[in-house]
Amino acid sequence: MVQITGATKLLGVMGHPVEHSLSPVMHNAALKALATQHHHFLEYVYIPFSVTANALPTVVSSLRELGCCGFNITIPHKQMIMPLLMETTAIAKAVGAVNTVWPTDTGWAGTNTDVEGFLSPLQPLNRDWSTVTPCILGCGGAARAVLAGCAQLGCPQVHIIGRQSAKLEQLRTTCATTLSIDIQIHLWENLPRLLPLAALLINTTPVGMSPHTQVSPLSTADIDQLPQDAIVYDLIYTPNPTLLLERTQSTGRIAITGVEMLVQQGAAALSLWINQPAPVDIMREALLACFT
Ligand code: NAP
Repeated sequence: MVQITGATKLLGVMGHPVEHSLSPVMHNAALKALATQHHHFLEYVYIPFSVTANALPTVVSSLRELGCCGFNITIPHKQMIMPLLMETTAIAKAVGAVNTVWPTDTGWAGTNTDVEGFLSPLQPLNRDWSTVTPCILGCGGAARAVLAGCAQLGCPQVHIIGRQSAKLEQLRTTCATTLSIDIQIHLWENLPRLLPLAALLINTTPVGMSPHTQVSPLSTADIDQLPQDAIVYDLIYTPNPTLLLERTQSTGRIAITGVEMLVQQGAAALSLWINQPAPVDIMREALLACFT
């Protein structure tokens, strides 16, 4: 536990429900290490706040009165928080969602660190992303951050697969104005046609997430259709790895789990709040310990 004194400063995560969030474990492990290293000059605690949509405006202004030093925003408030902020970064506007908030002189400011988190395990792979057309499964909230990440990588075009034409069309319309990437939308029946071209395939659906660990959005036969040097990236972090990634590894292709994205989006948020680098290894270790 972080030691709480009269000087302890407040951080947290706001969602509804929020009980399942792994962020408190990850951040408090980091904060405890920082407090020890810096002889208690960095004394913070990170608390889960269960907040309904109705209460969101009151809670957000009250946290400012309390001197809160920043908070994360999770489902279902990532979009609803935006009108309550004085400033949002270009990346948050591009994604259309905020996951990290901090105080400024005039009010709250917000950004989206999911994009940075998503990109972190891809960047060391040193691919020529200008030749890669990613294939994204799902078109919900996380797909928007992935889409912005693919645009930042420099991919010229992306394919998005979803279940509902109207939702796909809406995603394309809103993101086409903010992101410089050509967005092609498809229903699932088009997937077999896209697989041989998918050098980067990203699962942003919850298919395969605990407790439904025995399902996968792709069969082994589907995975065999991907290029031999394809990267399969599953945003799911529990189980770690998913059935999709186990199958990917068994065919010799590169598999990336959602754990690193979770760690790195958290580390990016923490370093914004405390204005120094976050102890990423401690955050990863604390998170992985939750899965054992
Ligand atoms: P979301 O907004 O609810 O979007 C989920 C998407 O998956 C929707 O497009 C939905 O389709 C689709 N989907 C759901 N069930 C499906 C099924 N059985 N078959 C096909 N498509 C299905 O959720 P989200 O916030 O984007 O999160 C999605 C996943 O990403 C979750 O597993 C979450 O844990 C993970 N995630 C991980 C990180 C990380 O840091 N690693 C960050 C964010 C999210 P419809 O549009 O038709 O409903």
